[in-house]
Parts: sequence; C-alpha cells; structure tokens
Amino acid sequence: MFPAAFDYRAPASLQEALSILKERGDDAKVMAGGQSLIPLLKLRFARPELVVDIGRLPSMNNVMRRGGHTAIGALVRHVDVENSKELASSAPMMVEAARWISDPLVRNRGTLAGSVCHADPAGDWGSVMLAFGAEIVARSLSGERVLRADEFFEGPFATVLKPDEVVTEVRIPLANGRAGGAYLKLERKVGDFATVAVAVQVQLEGEKVSRAGIGLTAVGPRNIKATDAERSLMGQEPTDRVIAEAARLAAEAAEPKDDVRGSAAYKKDVVRVFVQRGLKTAIGRAREVKS
Ligand SMILES: Cc1cc2nc3c(=O)[nH]c(=O)nc-3n(C[C@H](O)[C@H](O)[C@H](O)COP(=O)(O)OP(=O)(O)OC[C@H]3O[C@@H](n4cnc5c(N)ncnc54)[C@H](O)[C@@H]3O)c2cc1C
Repeated sequence: MFPAAFDYRAPASLQEALSILKERGDDAKVMAGGQSLIPLLKLRFARPELVVDIGRLPSMNNVMRRGGHTAIGALVRHVDVENSKELASSAPMMVEAARWISDPLVRNRGTLAGSVCHADPAGDWGSVMLAFGAEIVARSLSGERVLRADEFFEGPFATVLKPDEVVTEVRIPLANGRAGGAYLKLERKVGDFATVAVAVQVQLEGEKVSRAGIGLTAVGPRNIKATDAERSLMGQEPTDRVIAEAARLAAEAAEPKDDVRGSAAYKKDVVRVFVQRGLKTAIGRAREVKS
C-alpha cells in the first residue's frame, strides 16, 4: 500500500523543526521512529501535506537523572528503555514494560515519546506514564509546557498537544523511599497489542502505602488511570482484603468493549486479576528495596 504524496523535511535542529511547525503545523505531522505514523500514512488514515522527520536530530536521545525525576528524551527508543541502566535502577517497571512492546524491529525504531503522542488506547506506555504520574514536556516557538500524564490523553489517538508543539522529553518522578512496580500484559500471541494490560507502581512508608499508581491498557477509549483504586490503597497496610478491593475498583474503572480479543466481561475480570497480581508483585518488590 502506498501513502498519498507528501513533502518531507528533516530539520537539522529542534529550533528549525519548531519553526517549520509554526508555519505549517496544521498541514504537518511530526515523525520520530515512524512505527505508527508510516502505517497510518500507508493506510491513508493520515494524509499530511508535510512530514517533519525529527528522528535524525542529534539530540533528545538520552536518559538522565535530573532533580527529582528521570528525564527520557523524545528520541529514546523502546530498546533504549529496555537496556537503560538508569531506568533499571530508578524505575525498573519501565524496563519490564518495554520488553512487552511488539518485537525487536519495532522496539529498535519506535520511541517512547512517539508512542505517548500517538495515544493509542492499546499502547503500553500510556498506562505506564499514568501509573508513575509522569510529566510530558512540549515545546513550541512560544515556549514550553509541562503536562501531567493524566491531563495529556484526550481520547483515542487524541492528546492535548497543539499542532506546532513537539514533545521533547518525558519525566518519570524519582521514588521517595521504597518503591516497586509491575507491568502485566495479556496478548493473543507474542508481540501483539494488549488484549488487556495493567501498570502498577507503589511506594511504601513503613508498612503502609504512601503512593499508588494504576494505569489500564486497551480497556477504554484511552489509557485509564484507576483513581478510585489508587485512593483506596493510600495510607493502608496492603493486606489481601485491601488489595482485593483496589482490584475490584480498578475493574470498575475499565470500559472495555466486546471484540475478537474477548468479551467486555472477560476483560474486566482480567483487569481485576492483573491489578491484584500486579499489586502483590509491586509491594513485594518495594519491600525488597533497602531504605
Ligand atoms: C507491528 C507493530 C506492533 C506494535 N505493537 C505495539 C505494542 O505491543 N505495544 C505498544 O504500545 N505499541 C505497539 N506498536 C506501536 C509502536 O510501539 C508505537 O506507537 C511507536 O513506536 C510510536 O513511536 P514512533 O517513534 O515510531 O512514532 P511515530 O510513528 O513517528 O509517530 C507516532 C505519532 O506521534 C507523533 N509524534 C511522534 N513523536 C513526537 C514528538 N516528539 N512530538 C510530537 N508528536 C510526536 C507523530 O506525529 C504521530 O502522530 C506497534 C507498532 C507496530 C508497527
């Protein structure tokens, strides 16, 4: 399948990319790894007049600890997350989640930020961002906006990004104390998009939960933050009963549809079971961290 004709620009700097977008934003599409955009162009679901390829920029490809967060540049690929020593130490759930994304071909080209901008409700990174309470940094010629993950996703393939903005980095807050996470994914075959997936990230103070983040994949029009479930854990000792109640609330927050991957009722129950398992794993991992 062939895309409709488009112009192509590969700016040499972020500044140049932002200038092009300022002029042509409404007619243009940013491309990073092209792993979602190119299929969309080929299927003619996207028909931009201009593709602005930021994938060749010599910047935004680092993972670094800075202040209270780990900053992941917009050109950091899934494989870079998978191999990042920094994330293995500061946010190991990210490394676990990266391994679930498609296959090595996609992981070698696709970027974390591109996946977040694509806002596929079945995308894995959206839920991870929600569970961590990540921030997404967007730049335009007018300046910089720091957006919370829970205000970033508007709906299927829709975000609050403006046409002249480029995401430059994603920030994962550093845990303050003993923290652990888990990413659980049900797929029909290796490398598939999720039938259901769940991201869980918790922090403990003593034996009580001081922070809980739960993101749900492929069970609604966007990645869902299970806020009631998160709240139910706060300040609690995570007993079996507390965990079961959080898992029940997370399943209630899911809005899946019947499709070839399973019935809505089945998917809700997978959410419940995965959140329960994910919380037990995450809490176990947090307990292993030396304070
Ligand atoms: C066969 C296959 C299997 C896949 N399986 C999975 C899976 O299991 N799980 C999963 O989560 N994903 C999966 N994906 C999707 C893929 O992981 C991501 O969506 C993809 O990597 C997006 O990153 P990219 O850099 O390729 O973005 P691109 O394709 O270049 O861009 C995607 C969208 O984001 C915008 N964009 C990209 N970067 C920026 C930026 N910095 N600022 C502003 N806008 C930007 C583009 O304009 C475009 O709209 C799969 C894709 C394929 C082809």
